Amino acid sequence: MAIAIILHGGAGDWNTYDTGKAKDILEKAAYIGLKILKNNGSSLDAVEKSINHLENSGYFDAGLGSVTQNDGKIRMDAGIMDGSNLKCGAVAAIEDIKNPISVARKVMEKTSHCLIVSKFAAEFAVKNGFKTIKIKPKQLFKKHSSDTVGAIALDKKGNIAVGNSTGGVYGKMIPGRVGDSPIAGAGYYADAYAGAATTGIGESFIRTVMSKQAVDMAKEKPLKDAVRTALKIVRQKTGCNGGIIMLDKNGDYAAHHTTKAMPWVYKKG
Ligand code: ASP
Repeated sequence: MAIAIILHGGAGDWNTYDTGKAKDILEKAAYIGLKILKNNGSSLDAVEKSINHLENSGYFDAGLGSVTQNDGKIRMDAGIMDGSNLKCGAVAAIEDIKNPISVARKVMEKTSHCLIVSKFAAEFAVKNGFKTIKIKPKQLFKKHSSDTVGAIALDKKGNIAVGNSTGGVYGKMIPGRVGDSPIAGAGYYADAYAGAATTGIGESFIRTVMSKQAVDMAKEKPLKDAVRTALKIVRQKTGCNGGIIMLDKNGDYAAHHTTKAMPWVYKKG
């Protein structure tokens, strides 16, 4: 069975220098995931641990690098899905937690729910052993737009998992706004055949339920066509640009963006 992982660091207005550094960090994260997959680890572990690396880097709009909302507070969203059984877990508008993707996974595995929000998500995290941490707002994201992270992995058993983590879009964000990243079907989706993760203005992916649409399209056409059609629909229906990554059960992949840039990496074992 093929093993593979694909990660992105957000679709936006990056400049060349930024994407170079972002790609280095993504490469490291991809190797963390690949090592897990090589050692018979699950696609869920690979997605979670590689995203943890990105959250901890402080370089992306996720975890320690998250942007602030209009009231100066950092509120993060994350979601994770197991394509083998369609289970998913997510947190939205969570504060003071370093690794929201890991809390999302706990929601998936320890509860019968899919999404827990705000202070209840943080309380759930603390009850499950996560430490609270004050995240210092970063200036970095003044340089380029917000840079959510997403990952999709395929393990030796042929299972696909997908995950997202974000501090949301930068600027003009009403406190409590939640984007597509923790919404299954919109910002992320995986089934037994393929997985998809989106990045960009979350509202556009929610309105088009794009990750689910893209996974369905991948059953009818090559992945490279599915990602292009997906972003074409988003542009036509909502006027927004964005990015998407996909991976299927054969380890085939596709990545596409209609924004200026989107750093991404793919590794196959
Ligand atoms: N999709 C994310 C959101 O709308 C932002 C991003 O991908 O950069 O919250």
